[in-house]
Amino acid sequence: MLGVRPYRAINESLSGYLLRLAYVNGFISISDLLWHIEMRPVKNRRMGHFSDKELEKLLACLSETLGRDASPALVHHYEQAWFYDAERVFQHALVDFPRVCLCCIATESKPIFDWRWQLAILPLCPRHLTPLHNNCPACCVAFSWSTDLFERCPHCKAKWSEIERKSLIEHADLNEIVSPTEDGHLSLSRLQLHDVMLTLHRVGRPFDVLTHSANTVPHTNDHWQKALLALRLLNDTKVYENWRHQAQANWAGVSALINPVHEFTNSLKSQSWPSLTGPISAGLQARLQDINWDNQEPAYVKPARAKAAKDQQQGSWCYHVNHPLLAQALGVSSKALMVLTSSRALPQLNSTSVIREKLFDLGAVSKALGPYHQKRGFKNSLIVTESSLCFARYLSSYGVLLQSGFSGQVEMRLPNRNSLSAVEVPSRELEAFLIQSLNDACADSILKTRVARALGVASTQVSALVKQGRFQWAGWRNDESVDGPSFRAFYKPPPLSDCI
Ligand SMILES: [Zn+2]
Ligand SMILES: [Zn+2]
Repeated sequence: MLGVRPYRAINESLSGYLLRLAYVNGFISISDLLWHIEMRPVKNRRMGHFSDKELEKLLACLSETLGRDASPALVHHYEQAWFYDAERVFQHALVDFPRVCLCCIATESKPIFDWRWQLAILPLCPRHLTPLHNNCPACCVAFSWSTDLFERCPHCKAKWSEIERKSLIEHADLNEIVSPTEDGHLSLSRLQLHDVMLTLHRVGRPFDVLTHSANTVPHTNDHWQKALLALRLLNDTKVYENWRHQAQANWAGVSALINPVHEFTNSLKSQSWPSLTGPISAGLQARLQDINWDNQEPAYVKPARAKAAKDQQQGSWCYHVNHPLLAQALGVSSKALMVLTSSRALPQLNSTSVIREKLFDLGAVSKALGPYHQKRGFKNSLIVTESSLCFARYLSSYGVLLQSGFSGQVEMRLPNRNSLSAVEVPSRELEAFLIQSLNDACADSILKTRVARALGVASTQVSALVKQGRFQWAGWRNDESVDGPSFRAFYKPPPLSDCI
């Protein structure tokens, strides 16, 4: 049985309580305590989160060693009604690494690790408005769940009582927005909470279009500064404008259709943030706030993505896109792009064939498109886009034309830089391509809806034509598909010039 057996305080986190138990009984860390009370296997990671199974084990060992029922110590005395979100965003609102108010620790006779210190979006101690440190202000080394934290830095042993502690009173209002009460009530609405979490991830990777906001908030040095910057980005027009300028400048020339500012404002669930709605005074320039946004934290990049990009310069990681973003950036539909990406016509960062997991680097993609853009124009050529009628009329598709262009079967030129929104093809080659597509499609059965689009009529009209004996249903699919060869014999596609 332990010599000193305190009760868990109302506002104390579970890991904070275990750390205090370890501290007052002379152990060096939570894991050390767990080892001595015979919790096996000893938990030594994700100390901020205990699974149901771990809690069950902990309950038995703790009850034994405390000589009383430990279940009250394992129940949170604070409500976290806001904790569960459909997108799992809020479940990651509590960080796993220790965060400490050095003021609380150094000035209180019986310091408690407040559960709110683990809230990723909270920059400052709600009581002292001093930073919640997750690494030592003296040596910068990240904190571990060591009992040293009650007195000093576990690494350099600098004493908290001797370290300067400054209150950031000027940010009291911002801090207040995300400070829950001790019993867990948060004044932010769920939509606002979502936005603050999203913004925290945005601040971690200020120039990326791809953010992983449903990922655990990773440890980075001086996390409190990120949390504070996220709040300022949402609440201070000057800060927002400063970021907007720099982010757009960083994306100038990369894509005309997507950029981080666009992605960010589109992903916010509430549009009423002061920075978005506040007055932008004349002459408000980036220089009004001297903020360095160049800090792109690799820790905020999903491990799978970081692994795929390990051979790249980290500075270019911000141009990573997924499949839908690549389609947007190139100005084509995901459907057309899919023809290209499934045949690997465009360079892909990872090797997966699962569409939603595919990653691309816009820099590499634009390099691949470059030669097609720089080509000289053709004599007698046509420019087609995805909405050109010829694709429906010839039972073809824009994606397949692009693919034929990349594979060299058809000569093509891309009139717009970094874009697949239009393609220029010599007229005779386009005609040959379309006729070939039509013949290929008619070698098999064809969906009724495609036949209707080729003819430019309603589906019911296709049924009527079959009844009149113009062509037949495909034998094995009843009236959903048309027999290809009989349709080809009947169908005369319009001249190309009529359907561009
Ligand atoms: Zn404090
Ligand atoms: Zn230190």
